[in-house]
Amino acid sequence: MRILDHHPLAELTTFGLPARAAHFAACTSEDEVKEALEWHHHRGGPLHILGGGSNVLLTGDLPGLVLRMEVSGIREIGRTEKGPLVQVGAGVGWHAFVMEALDRNWYGLENLSLIPGSTGAGPMQNIGAYGVELEERFHALEAVEIATGETHRFDHSDCAFGYRESVFKRALKGRYVITSVTFQLLDVPELRLDYGAIRQALEEAGVHDPTPRAVSDAVIGIRRSKLPDPAVLGNAGSFFKNPVVDADRHAALVARFPDMPHYPAPGGIKLAAGWLIDQAGWKGHDRGTHGVHDRQALVLVHKGGAQGAEILQLAQDVQADVLDRFGVKLEREVNVLPAP
Ligand SMILES: Cc1cc2nc3c(=O)[nH]c(=O)nc-3n(C[C@H](O)[C@H](O)[C@H](O)COP(=O)(O)OP(=O)(O)OC[C@H]3O[C@@H](n4cnc5c(N)ncnc54)[C@H](O)[C@@H]3O)c2cc1C
Repeated sequence: MRILDHHPLAELTTFGLPARAAHFAACTSEDEVKEALEWHHHRGGPLHILGGGSNVLLTGDLPGLVLRMEVSGIREIGRTEKGPLVQVGAGVGWHAFVMEALDRNWYGLENLSLIPGSTGAGPMQNIGAYGVELEERFHALEAVEIATGETHRFDHSDCAFGYRESVFKRALKGRYVITSVTFQLLDVPELRLDYGAIRQALEEAGVHDPTPRAVSDAVIGIRRSKLPDPAVLGNAGSFFKNPVVDADRHAALVARFPDMPHYPAPGGIKLAAGWLIDQAGWKGHDRGTHGVHDRQALVLVHKGGAQGAEILQLAQDVQADVLDRFGVKLEREVNVLPAP
């Protein structure tokens, strides 16, 4: 493992914004993670973990060490009556893993096809899409404690998963490097077709008796039609989380906007952040080098030549306007580095 100085980060993130790491280490094994952490302890300064860079907004150069996770490997390590227990290195691309699982007839991840990023980052925000969240297939993970260099195992109950949430974003934020994740996959498919336009896409494709592969293909088709491809237009997916409001706020909003989409959620009623941003007139908002995507108001885009701080400013302008108009606070889903 080599430590590189002043390493450029733009191409390692999907926003493609200019920034450099003071020091940078790509780690291909748990031992290399521990070696990099030891180096970091001697040097001091901040530490940042980077996976596929698809959920970060870089607003400037990063002091200290950036540790990029490149641990590979997909292994069946055991079985239960449901199906295989599959351990995946944190650096394995999430979509590549979903595709490999389908090739090996391991089911349960098909709705999560085409989510960018690394497998190790998946539990951080309990990635989810089309009615399935990672936590439903999660078995355990291994992580190295940054302070001690010791490896710890976390079972499902240790992770405090929630909507785009886990203990690693809250109580244990900045304390662990996830090195592998183990999933409980299924031998017998349990298809989830009732979310979004999955059924419609299957019908349009002439599929009457869907397989997990057909569901994956449908999800991939829907995502390609809705979300900008980061290789073409810089972005980090949904910039904001869907807000959960209490019954009073919900009733007041429904009285004003009877068509407002809403869904029951733990702790209240979930609203669609994209709908609120769209209603406030931000969809397609253009600031030359950056703006709000014209087909999906939840996605902020980098068109070329922007600085991360400008995109953060746009995000803050959207948040302030939505708060002003609807009394709803939008929380960022994307991680801003360095922390604002
Ligand atoms: C076009 C597009 C569509 C998207 N769609 C979805 C979607 O449908 N659903 C969804 O949930 N997300 C979605 N995302 C967001 C993103 O893909 C996920 O959050 C993904 O899990 C991020 O993975 P990453 O490896 O790129 O993480 P990074 O962006 O590199 O890191 C994200 C955070 O996790 C930390 N981190 C990363 N790896 C580790 C590790 N091994 N150990 C400890 N900390 C770590 C980082 O420090 C950072 O705070 C989308 C993004 C894009 C660009």
